[in-house]
Amino acid sequence: MSFDVSRIRAEFPILAREVRGVPLVYLDNAASSQKPRAVIDAVSHYYEHSNANIHRAVHALSEEATGLYEGARTKVADLLGAASAQEVVFVRGTTEAINLVAQAFVRPRIAEGDEILVSHLEHHSNIVPWQMLCEQTGAVLRVAPIDDRGEIPLEGYAKLLGPRTRLVALGHVSNALGTIVPVQEMVRLAHDHGAPVLLDGAQAVPHLRVDVQDLDCDFYAFSGHKVYGPTGIGALWGRAELLDEMEPYQGGGEMILSVSFDKTVYNKVPYKFEAGTPNIAGAVGLGAAADWLRAHDFGALMRHEDDLLDYATQRAAEVPGLRVIGTARRKTGVLSFVLGDIHAHDVGTIVDREGVAVRTGHHCAQPVMDHFGVPATTRASFAAYNTRQDVDQLIAALHKVLEIFGE
Ligand code: PMP
Repeated sequence: MSFDVSRIRAEFPILAREVRGVPLVYLDNAASSQKPRAVIDAVSHYYEHSNANIHRAVHALSEEATGLYEGARTKVADLLGAASAQEVVFVRGTTEAINLVAQAFVRPRIAEGDEILVSHLEHHSNIVPWQMLCEQTGAVLRVAPIDDRGEIPLEGYAKLLGPRTRLVALGHVSNALGTIVPVQEMVRLAHDHGAPVLLDGAQAVPHLRVDVQDLDCDFYAFSGHKVYGPTGIGALWGRAELLDEMEPYQGGGEMILSVSFDKTVYNKVPYKFEAGTPNIAGAVGLGAAADWLRAHDFGALMRHEDDLLDYATQRAAEVPGLRVIGTARRKTGVLSFVLGDIHAHDVGTIVDREGVAVRTGHHCAQPVMDHFGVPATTRASFAAYNTRQDVDQLIAALHKVLEIFGE
């Protein structure tokens, strides 16, 4: 299979549209990716042909919908290299997965003075649930420092592991900077201290080959909407024995085997964690996205995104006053930068007029911004369908920004 970007682009209907009278250049993929026809069709086909509630009824549509939903679970398990589909819990997204682990796994196992270890690179959704847990239990949040490239030096991290570390929670790839974190080595170090590890894979699954068994982590979370799938669906993978031991996260229908006022018996894993009617269409769409990713040559896709990042980094150096924030040695396709003294929101607004969609702000990673002493950056982030021409249009738009601001 060779990588042909024009064929890939043709699979994404939205890329054919114009914004503000010019062709769309979509460089906000770290926030949410666009969807290929295969995913859009899977969702509408589900609603047109198979829509029903799952698991409960014996009628044909319900059986069909259940088959599609459970089939999607297997596809997600395959995408993550999981040993079994029963280790995959459908959730709303990474945020819900992390909250689930905080409340259903860590909370019953943590005491006052125990520690949770995260890094300075984390997205707010891998900080705030732990702060809430610390408030609830008297546990302490420890933070592994980052350096000026936006990497996490291993010595600083290792020093914070200790006998009271109850969980390590790390982003696999930084959304704000693109840093690829050496999580395999960090998992090994955590396990040496008997600490289980949750990895936030929101930015990794779209860009890297993820194998939870190779990584040897204990939990892995990601969101459908960043991997060419729908919003409102994602997955938490957990080791079967840990999921088995855990209490449910929410109570309700679907997560029980029997209910009486005297005693309720919970369902088995993973249904124990899926209270209520789930996002069935979302799961079907996520299954289609997993199929879509697996149908392409992932190695070629990664090389294409690496090439775009190299090209963008090189072209960014031509823009006067542009400073790249985040220069890790291993990065996915994220170019975060500041442009002289011009506020990121002004940069974003002007490049948008040229049809270029980028994200501006703190990217839900305020501690990262604080480390670099900036309130916000402009972030261009790449996906499989982006091209060198998209980069050229971004650079041309940045020159316009400089003209307008007279810099
Ligand atoms: N972690 C990282 C690294 C992210 O980039 C994001 C989304 N920006 C999240 C967690 C949260 O994902 P979601 O909003 O889909 O739950």
